[in-house]
Amino acid sequence: MAESASSMPVEATLLAQVAEQFGTPCYVYSRQKLVAAWHSYADPLMGRDALICYAMKANSTLAILDVFARLGAGFDIVSAGELARVIAAGGDPGRVVFSGVGKSESDILAALEANILCFNVESASELRRIESLAQRRGTRARISVRVNPDVDAGTHPYISTGLRENKFGIPFTQARELYRHAQASAHLVVVGIDVHIGSQILEVAPFLEALDRTLAFADSLVAEGIAIHHLDLGGGVGIRYRDEEPLLPADYIREVYARLGERPWQLLLEPGRSLVGNAGVLLTRVEYLKQGDGRQFAIVDAAMNDLLRPSLYDAWHDIVALKPPQGVPQVFDIVGPVCESGDFLGRGRSLALAEGDLLAVLSAGAYGMSMSSNYNSRARPAEVLVDGPTMHLIRERESLSDLFRGERRAPFAEDEQLA
Ligand SMILES: *Cc1c(COP(=O)(O)O)cnc(C)c1O
Repeated sequence: MAESASSMPVEATLLAQVAEQFGTPCYVYSRQKLVAAWHSYADPLMGRDALICYAMKANSTLAILDVFARLGAGFDIVSAGELARVIAAGGDPGRVVFSGVGKSESDILAALEANILCFNVESASELRRIESLAQRRGTRARISVRVNPDVDAGTHPYISTGLRENKFGIPFTQARELYRHAQASAHLVVVGIDVHIGSQILEVAPFLEALDRTLAFADSLVAEGIAIHHLDLGGGVGIRYRDEEPLLPADYIREVYARLGERPWQLLLEPGRSLVGNAGVLLTRVEYLKQGDGRQFAIVDAAMNDLLRPSLYDAWHDIVALKPPQGVPQVFDIVGPVCESGDFLGRGRSLALAEGDLLAVLSAGAYGMSMSSNYNSRARPAEVLVDGPTMHLIRERESLSDLFRGERRAPFAEDEQLA
């Protein structure tokens, strides 16, 4: 039998206790694994002028942010909502960079108000909007331009962002015009340059290709008198879901500094998935075993609304039973209760299962809870942070009344007929 892909971050007996105490479905994270993932970046950066900005869209739960904030993290945000979470979690807005192609006026105003470190600008129109809002507030906005280096990251098309045809970033020729404009503006300050080419990247080569092109461009900016203070290389380092052999942050960082040479720039990195992905599991219980025509289904109490990745990207997550196997394994599709054929967590899995058994869906710490929804009016799961032997509830399971908070019945008179 193949070895389990990514190992369990929390031991099975403790997971069973979590299920007992807090119910299922439930996301469970290991504090120790979060800290270890942090050190995989922080240790090789020790003694360097560098800032790790956790890309919090991977998992924006307050307690997760709190763990990283205590370790000295900055944050990469994509909305004013994420900024509010950073502040609520005790993070430092002065270490926040703001990414994303569609920053609204209110997003930008909130970020100016909080005096964030840098806006990663994704279009000429956005730069003008930031400039005019900074002017209105009588301040100067720190910016970097997110360049699009036209590099193939060799990843899933939905999570590739560094190709010419993607909506992200700005081609070098246009980026130069933006830098010149910003340099001359009384309300903008050029502080850096930014690149991010995609997610779940397993090889170092695409990162280095993007780096080489970005460095050549940045050097040309410096040559025309546009000073760069930091180089932001984005996120995108992949993790093991099954049998992948991802690059190690330490190897990547060594190669980056070898290429940076004498350039005196601060290095920013924006890892998301690789800081949280393998620190979390989704705990679920088997509701029913169902024999279909030539297929067996294990219907579990977690669904695509809790963990969207299998349905959205056909992503593979290892699924393991918490009890030692009893009986002969059989092949199951592990599916949820949602009324969609695309609602599955794993297909064709060989497991010995009985109704009522607990399963752990592994590598679920990234893009799990943060992509969850209330589809089918399902309350979103609880979240638990495990610290050694101690379990902390970090998010209550949603209640049924949470499901329609803020909604109103139609404003018609009691006796009004719709006909
Ligand atoms: C999503 C994203 C990241 C994080 O990507 P991971 O693959 O989770 O490391 C970093 N920077 C930007 C701009 C992003 O959009």
